[in-house]
Amino acid sequence: MGYAEFYRRSIEQPDEFWAEQGRLIEWQTPPQRVCDDSHPPFTRWFVGGTTNLCHNAVDRHLKDRAEQPALIWVSTETDRERVYSFRELHQEVQRTAAMLQALGVGKGDRVLIYMPMIPEAAFAMLACARIGAIHSVVFGGFASVSLASRIEDAEPRVIVSADGGSRAGKVIAYKPLLDEAIRLSSHKPQAVLLADRQLAPMERVAGRDHDWAPLRDKHLDAQVACEWLQSTDISYTIYTSGTTGRPKGVQRDVGGYAVALAASMQHIFQGRAGETYFSTSDIGWVVGHSYIVYGPLIAGMATIMYEGLPIRPDAGIWWKLVEKYKVTVMFSAPTAVRVLKKQDPAFLKKYDLSSLRGLFLAGEPLDEPTARWISDGLGVPIIDNYWQTESGWPILTIAGGVERKPAKFGSPGVPMYGYKVKILHESTGEELTRPNEKGVVVIEGPTPPGFMQTVWRDDERFVRTYWQSIPGKQVYSTFDWGIRDADGYFYILGRTDDVINVAGHRLGTREIEESISSHPGVAEVAVVGVADPMKGQVAMAFAIPKDSSVITDAAAALKLEGDVMKLVDQQLGAVARPSRVRFVSLLPKTRSGKLLRRAIQAVCEGRDPGDLTTIEDPSALQQIKDLIKQ
Ligand code: ATP
Ligand code: MG
Repeated sequence: MGYAEFYRRSIEQPDEFWAEQGRLIEWQTPPQRVCDDSHPPFTRWFVGGTTNLCHNAVDRHLKDRAEQPALIWVSTETDRERVYSFRELHQEVQRTAAMLQALGVGKGDRVLIYMPMIPEAAFAMLACARIGAIHSVVFGGFASVSLASRIEDAEPRVIVSADGGSRAGKVIAYKPLLDEAIRLSSHKPQAVLLADRQLAPMERVAGRDHDWAPLRDKHLDAQVACEWLQSTDISYTIYTSGTTGRPKGVQRDVGGYAVALAASMQHIFQGRAGETYFSTSDIGWVVGHSYIVYGPLIAGMATIMYEGLPIRPDAGIWWKLVEKYKVTVMFSAPTAVRVLKKQDPAFLKKYDLSSLRGLFLAGEPLDEPTARWISDGLGVPIIDNYWQTESGWPILTIAGGVERKPAKFGSPGVPMYGYKVKILHESTGEELTRPNEKGVVVIEGPTPPGFMQTVWRDDERFVRTYWQSIPGKQVYSTFDWGIRDADGYFYILGRTDDVINVAGHRLGTREIEESISSHPGVAEVAVVGVADPMKGQVAMAFAIPKDSSVITDAAAALKLEGDVMKLVDQQLGAVARPSRVRFVSLLPKTRSGKLLRRAIQAVCEGRDPGDLTTIEDPSALQQIKDLIKQ
């Protein structure tokens, strides 16, 4: 069966299609109804079925592959490596589950996990899934204020954390940040469970704080059975990246998510039991949930959990791991590839990558020069895939497991099975069906399994934010612009709030960025629209030059600025030409590596940049502020 037929079945006979996918996981009670969409947009999947994510990720494999590696932990920060078999993982998860229970955690309670990339973080997630507690993992790179707002929102009974993490060899003490966050939050956890890595000194609050190791010793022989949960029960909440504003607490179910991941492992990633999957993301992001922890394990694969940078000890470290663990499927982000691009390309050729069948990239637009660079360097297929925290798994890509469609650079691909993706006119709501017409990318309900159930404790925000943004249509808005070409391939042109309106011409920031980054002197660029009394808006570009001396050499900067403008004129036309191209050493990004265009725009317009709790390095925004003042 070709992909077109596979997709058609998923849309025209969804019950039959998803019932079949549902058999990829194990149920305690089989579902009575595949899809209940009687209260849109609150779609419920596999109603009446009971199952457990931890059972499917761990226990289920004990029969056939108990001694096979399940979790491979590599830390280049602390120079440690440890492999847990499925049997060992099962044991650690049961111990952790027993510890959480001893601290008072039961079904439906929230457990907030604020941890570096260490095995205990995965044990905690799986232990929550096992006993039916709802985990809420907060990225370990966040400081107290961001953490406090998430503690307040999730109201966890227990927080699991550690003394510290390490980044580029520098220790980051987590515990003082956590203590401060708890102090700031009106909600107080009953207990805090702490893994002591002996990286940073750690003060304990008597009666509240518990050390992992001694508590684990009390539960060495723990046997904690999986709690059979309703398919529609809540498995976890996770916050969006906060690129466009206040992060949203995405709530996910149990059964639909398990099925969605199992299906994606087969039809998209083509990972087989016994092989090794390597996702370079962090457990604090959705990719870490779906494709470091749950997805690969559900598929019976070993998963690599990596603590460290892509360029330490050198830029070959990831490929060294691919060779050592015979990785077959790899997942990373364009931002990471851009980091590697600044290094010697010889590293891409140094190791035996013959096991690797594909490198999946997601999170931001994958520009063509970056895609070509990594594709030529590695000699493996590069598979762009587009999705969101909200969806939990890819919305657009090329489904290699069914039929490997040819990739087109610049396009993540076609709608995945189960997703009715459309392009609508943003103000009339009219569907745009002709090739290359630009509109908002939306998803028509019912949304497929794995998709968010609602915004945690805020059904109204879920409906209002996502389902009522297009006049007269109840569709889910991705808040991304896109077009579809004559072959049905989608192109994501940027966020709906990233459009520039120059004298009535609507331009996507991404188009201008692509054009500018095709100049050989430019390493990376951000384009924003800035209010202009004459034209409404003008485009303003901030670029990182390949040659950093350009930043301080006024004459060289002026020359490069002129060349870049000429290039945009040629490629897109004078209307798209930025009013200025300024050079900086760093661009403001979120912790997950996404450009914070809204913050740049606000600074350029002299406004308050708003919620900056997710920014990676505030000095990047300061550089822009200083430039604007000149
Ligand atoms: P917030 O919703 O809080 O503003 P965010 O949208 O950055 O943050 P995520 O869910 O992490 O949070 O990111 C999803 C977004 O990332 C998509 O809506 C899209 O804008 C972008 N994106 C993800 N993958 C791709 C891709 N392959 N190509 C283009 N854009 C992508
Ligand atoms: Mg978003």
